[in-house]
Amino acid sequence: MVGSQIFDIVRKQGRTLLTEVEAKDALRDAGISVVDTRLARSRDEAVAISGEIGFPVVLKIASTDITHKSDSGGVKVGLDSVAEVISAYDEIMSAVKQKNPGAKIQGVSVQNMAKQGVEVIVGMSKDPQFGPVLMFGLGGVTVEILKDVAFRLIPLGERDAREMIKEIKGYPLLEGYRGQDPCDIRALERLLLQVSGFIEHNPEVEEIDLNPVFAYSDGAVAVDARVVLGVEAR
Ligand code: ADP
Ligand code: MG
Repeated sequence: MVGSQIFDIVRKQGRTLLTEVEAKDALRDAGISVVDTRLARSRDEAVAISGEIGFPVVLKIASTDITHKSDSGGVKVGLDSVAEVISAYDEIMSAVKQKNPGAKIQGVSVQNMAKQGVEVIVGMSKDPQFGPVLMFGLGGVTVEILKDVAFRLIPLGERDAREMIKEIKGYPLLEGYRGQDPCDIRALERLLLQVSGFIEHNPEVEEIDLNPVFAYSDGAVAVDARVVLGVEAR
């Protein structure tokens, strides 16, 4: 499905927040690299989809009422067998029901388990004065505690993409710190330009969070995605 069709469905349901599956579908449609992610509405479906995707897989709670999936006990990674998928499904459901009793649950998303990379984040938010702004940073604690991030206005030029990556203090980590393989900086530049292009083509998108993106020595992939539409259609 193309992005605009997904947005129509979301709006018809009176929502502005896309599910993770919808967000990744819309981003993939724009050529952005995301992990294979599908919605399972039951335990049996989760098992069937795991078989199709191939082990190891990741299970995550799929609920438009839950933003921080891990905080709700809603993420299980590295599931290697049908038995592990079944128990992860049950554990996720009971944890989420306990922590978010009122949440409407669509099911779980089943995703392929991406190999660990350097975690980076890419975000877009709208500044009341300047309009859409792109953010780039290293993932995890560096963003939360050190606020080591760079911002640029959208639309982004190639030079902006290059500069904003180099600008963060953690850049040496991407260049290959102490014998680590360097990350594919070109892939990150391309990702930033693709997200910028996605916003240009879809001005109704109000917010994007790709957190985290795994950066590799060859390529990069978003393992989590959040997309929010503006309150009214423009
Ligand atoms: P949250 O809603 O809590 O942000 P995430 O989808 O970001 O949930 O998942 C939490 C963590 O689990 C991620 O930061 C990442 O380290 C890991 N993770 C999530 N999805 C995958 C995946 N498909 N493959 C590998 N690791 C993953
Ligand atoms: Mg996340």
